[in-house]
Amino acid sequence: MNSPQREPWQWAEEEWRAIVGRVRAGRALKPAHWKHGARCAVALSFDSDHETNELRDGGESIGRMSQGQYGNRQGVPRILEILARHGVPVSFFVPAVVALLYPDEQRRVVAEGHEIAIHGWIHERNSVLPPEAERDLQMRSADALERVTGRRPAGIRTPSWDFSPHTLAITRDMGLAYDSSLMADVDCYELLLDGEPTGVVELPVEWIRDDAVYFNMHRFQGLRPYTPPADVFDIFRREFDAAYREGGLFQLTMHPHFSGYRSRIWILDELIAHMRTHGDVWFATHADIVEYVKHHAVTR
Ligand SMILES: [Zn+2]
Repeated sequence: MNSPQREPWQWAEEEWRAIVGRVRAGRALKPAHWKHGARCAVALSFDSDHETNELRDGGESIGRMSQGQYGNRQGVPRILEILARHGVPVSFFVPAVVALLYPDEQRRVVAEGHEIAIHGWIHERNSVLPPEAERDLQMRSADALERVTGRRPAGIRTPSWDFSPHTLAITRDMGLAYDSSLMADVDCYELLLDGEPTGVVELPVEWIRDDAVYFNMHRFQGLRPYTPPADVFDIFRREFDAAYREGGLFQLTMHPHFSGYRSRIWILDELIAHMRTHGDVWFATHADIVEYVKHHAVTR
């Protein structure tokens, strides 16, 4: 879209307007109240990246593969135990390669009442893919998840929330109900492509509400976790408390191979317990929340 010959400060107004306007937030989809008269909706999500965080960069580190396998052996079971104890349905976003490596994990997730949705093929970066490869991978990912779980996924979270100029058109053409990779609001909204409504609902994420930001670590890079778990809990709790006060939506992203550890998993447990002390909170999958806001949003 942008010309390699010219610098951004040389772009004509229609050029920078076209870049900004490619994918935008359209009408807000905020209901007057949530299901069963609840004041606040809670959409918890877990991105089961496992080994694909290493594979997608062409890495073959056996150590990092073992961290990925921890996600399957310890991370997901610890998360599922807490969710079952509190009776909370959530959404898992799963790369197709992870679903093929661990079909039993996915079947257990679905059997326990949770949603599984698209999270790329091998956690690829959409913005560096040729458009036809991106379309092919996204469609094959949906097929692979359906083969493993027996259910057609209703939505997508792009790997690393990386969005190409073509991603939204693919999502719309596939008939997916929602995306959960963008950050233009705290409430759900309809996505616009070049100014036109797509019918695709965005259930927005934020890096602030993502455990990877606080806990990620790479031995051979400068990446280290700097935020203590108690502080991460405090951030997430404050995000929820404000969402509750505003009668809005609290969405959270966690990863089995970042949070599924003895010193961190309590964050999920205590966060749900805190939210449960408010009686009027609706815990639901991303798909169920999107379905609800489509039919109950108040026009503003
Ligand atoms: Zn991911």
